[in-house]
Amino acid sequence: MLNNPHKQWIALLLWLLVVPTSLYVIYVKFPFKEIDMWFLILNFIMLVVAMSVSFQIFSISISLERWIIFVIFFQYGLFAEMVFMQLALIILQFVRKSSLPAFYRFTTNSLMFAIVSITSAFCFHYAGGSISEMPPWAFLAAAAVYAISYSLINSLILYCIMKIERTSFDDFKQVALWDFAITMVVLPLAVAYSLLTYKLGVFSVMLLGVPFLLILLIIRKYAFSGEFNKKLSSAVDIGHELTESLSTHEVIEVFTKKIRGVVNYDQAYILDIYKETEFHLLACSEAGNFSKEAEFFTFKNEAIPLLSPNKINVYSSHKEIEKLEHLQFSSAVQSVMVAPIIRAGKLEAYLIMTSFRRNFFEEIDKKMVDLLTGYFETSVMKAFHYELTIEKSEKCGLTKLYNFRYLTKKLSEELSRFHEQEISSVSAIILDIDHFKSINDNYGHQSGNDILCSFAQILKKYETDGRTLARYGGEEFVLLLPDFTKKEAVTLAERIRLEVEQHTFMIKPDLTDNIESIGVNLTVSLGVSSIPEDTKSDNSLLRNADRALYIGGKQAGRNRVGVYEGEQPETIEI
Ligand code: GH3
Ligand code: MG
Ligand code: MG
Repeated sequence: MLNNPHKQWIALLLWLLVVPTSLYVIYVKFPFKEIDMWFLILNFIMLVVAMSVSFQIFSISISLERWIIFVIFFQYGLFAEMVFMQLALIILQFVRKSSLPAFYRFTTNSLMFAIVSITSAFCFHYAGGSISEMPPWAFLAAAAVYAISYSLINSLILYCIMKIERTSFDDFKQVALWDFAITMVVLPLAVAYSLLTYKLGVFSVMLLGVPFLLILLIIRKYAFSGEFNKKLSSAVDIGHELTESLSTHEVIEVFTKKIRGVVNYDQAYILDIYKETEFHLLACSEAGNFSKEAEFFTFKNEAIPLLSPNKINVYSSHKEIEKLEHLQFSSAVQSVMVAPIIRAGKLEAYLIMTSFRRNFFEEIDKKMVDLLTGYFETSVMKAFHYELTIEKSEKCGLTKLYNFRYLTKKLSEELSRFHEQEISSVSAIILDIDHFKSINDNYGHQSGNDILCSFAQILKKYETDGRTLARYGGEEFVLLLPDFTKKEAVTLAERIRLEVEQHTFMIKPDLTDNIESIGVNLTVSLGVSSIPEDTKSDNSLLRNADRALYIGGKQAGRNRVGVYEGEQPETIEI
């Protein structure tokens, strides 16, 4: 709907047909009586203020402009009321946020109000109302008919729009009920204001208009502080949740997702600053989807100027956004907020939030983001240190592969998955480098270490799709293969054996003065065992694979894949 240019043209055409024509006809047919310019000007100012200080109660936007609109109608009739409303709508374009294109919003609103004004004015006259002083009771009755029809027609048109926009019916019911309730409250006020104006003229503005505006501003302030407190307590909840997260990934995800409950946005990005000169997209949330790839946002990396190293900056229009040369947003983005994420006084990253609406981010959003980025930074650091500790305790310092401790944990997880029938098999391949001791003896321990690292790199290529690779000890490694049948595991083992056999390991021997690299070839023996083919007992999978390695690999002559076959492992002949 929003971006459909046809609809925008149809709205414009309808507007041209209905609004100027009806204004002209009404002006000619119902010329209005003498006007009090001061009364109109003061009321117009009040109308604009009333429209711009709408506030939220139960997430329904409430403003009391109808009061003034009704009074203008009762005083000067349909033409004055329509002109008043149309002028107010133009001003409204600048004070209220909307994601709709400005012109489209004006034409549709203007059309809607023109229809509401004309039909309810008709009802007023039909109920005996007239634009001159009337007996109070007759006036009240006609005014009530006017107010009721005004609200009903307004809701009816809203209903049609909601149908077209496919908004839920529940929403509509609430909006329509509130509209009716407010209209009924406004009705006696408007009648009183009108009657007073008959008697006192422009002085009535002082007696009723000004206090009315003040009350409105006070209510708004109260509603705003309620909203602020609500947001503040949600922000604190998010803060607690963040500090409980133990992985950096989780922190980033919780932060990006939950921040929406406090600060609304259309897209959010966390842009890490890498080596103080490069940007790196850590996380992105677009159209409610959380990912690492941005669709509506790109950034340039060359010589980044730091955007706002110390404070949160808000860019509220397309023109202002264009000034952010290094960040490019989709052309639909109308508001951007850039918040620095600072750790120990050093700028580490940016949180960037965007909206399709103009002037979207407000002071309250800046405050909330400031609070939340503080929580975020502490939580990320905490999670980062936690991950580092875990990594240290679960990884081998030399090869950076998982260690035995992690392997046993992972094995028991895979076995539970097997018993819960999530996976139908688990296979294990044990690998032991042949005659590795002689490498150490011939080229030195350091070269032995280098070879172990290169060997680990070869194996790493096979650690995909949920497989686990670990250094079992010394020059022995294990590949744990969930959902791998024995046959598949044997094929994979054979592939690895062949690759190692064909690989030349480059080392700089530390036992000679020779600083040239030399190539060393070596072989590996492997043992394969599987669940459920060989055993169902949890502990024996690695033992069986080790046995297969010893008998079918080493004893059978090395550079072989031993396959566990009960107590008599067979060897694949090469
Ligand atoms: P086999 O073919 O029977 O496996 O012979 P091998 O020499 O590989 O087996 P053995 O178990 O006799 O020797 C393993 C050697 O691996 C002993 C040890 O010096 C070496 N080794 C174990 N861990 C490391 C290590 O971290 N670095 C280095 N450089 N050598 C290691
Ligand atoms: Mg060994
Ligand atoms: Mg060995």
